[in-house]
Amino acid sequence: MKNNAPITPRPDLSELELERYKRQLMHRGFTPEHQTRLKAASVLVAGIGGLGGAAATYLAVAGIGSLRLAHYGTLTVSNMNRQTLMTDERIGEARVLQAKDRIKELNPHVEVENINERTSDGNVCDLLNGVDIALSARPNFEERRTLNKGCVKGHIPMIEAAMNGMEGYLFNIIPNVTPCLHCLYPEDDPEWEEMGFPVLGAVSGMLGCIMAIEAIKLITGFGKPMLSQMLVFNTFDMEYRKFRVRRNSSCPVCGNCHEKIHGVSEIKGAYA
Ligand SMILES: [Zn+2]
Repeated sequence: MKNNAPITPRPDLSELELERYKRQLMHRGFTPEHQTRLKAASVLVAGIGGLGGAAATYLAVAGIGSLRLAHYGTLTVSNMNRQTLMTDERIGEARVLQAKDRIKELNPHVEVENINERTSDGNVCDLLNGVDIALSARPNFEERRTLNKGCVKGHIPMIEAAMNGMEGYLFNIIPNVTPCLHCLYPEDDPEWEEMGFPVLGAVSGMLGCIMAIEAIKLITGFGKPMLSQMLVFNTFDMEYRKFRVRRNSSCPVCGNCHEKIHGVSEIKGAYA
């Protein structure tokens, strides 16, 4: 089939939606069925900073069905070197509210829920309730570990990505299939400080875009998501590498996870 062949409308995609997503539907193998999977999917974005903001933006414009944005705090002037969902005139206002407003401007078809809270043991079940995939984009170990535990317990795929200066990493956590965060990082870095690392907005934005790409692949079954692999890069000299990673069978978080996987993995068979 030629890439510019007419697309047959499906009952669950309007003519307007087919027109809106026309350019991504030109990918060989990306069909209206893939688009409807995106439309049906719900994603938790835990952290609306440079990473999560970029990921949320590109999931929204790609036609994700709904986004749940979780982030505690207000916008500060020092956030503005990496924020593209928020504006200078709204410094001092809640970040998640601004992100929701901007995403609705970008794509009014997307349902957006905003939760002005950190990820904690007390709310992680509620944050994950009903979502197909979670994006880990908070700048501290505690919230990432809490999200990891919640995703493993709930059999929800999670995309883990982090940056520091010009460097970054990303890997997908599919409970019972791939290593979890604790398998690979059983201990926190004692030197780490939440606001004590350098950030170039272009680096966090790039990594956020890769998160969105992996999420789209996991949700739709289009492409090859990274499984049991970690992407590590240093944009200082533009070195990119992929490493094989393995589960720790005695991991206290996922070591006894033998139950059936639910969510997008089961539906799409993307990593069967
Ligand atoms: Zn584990």
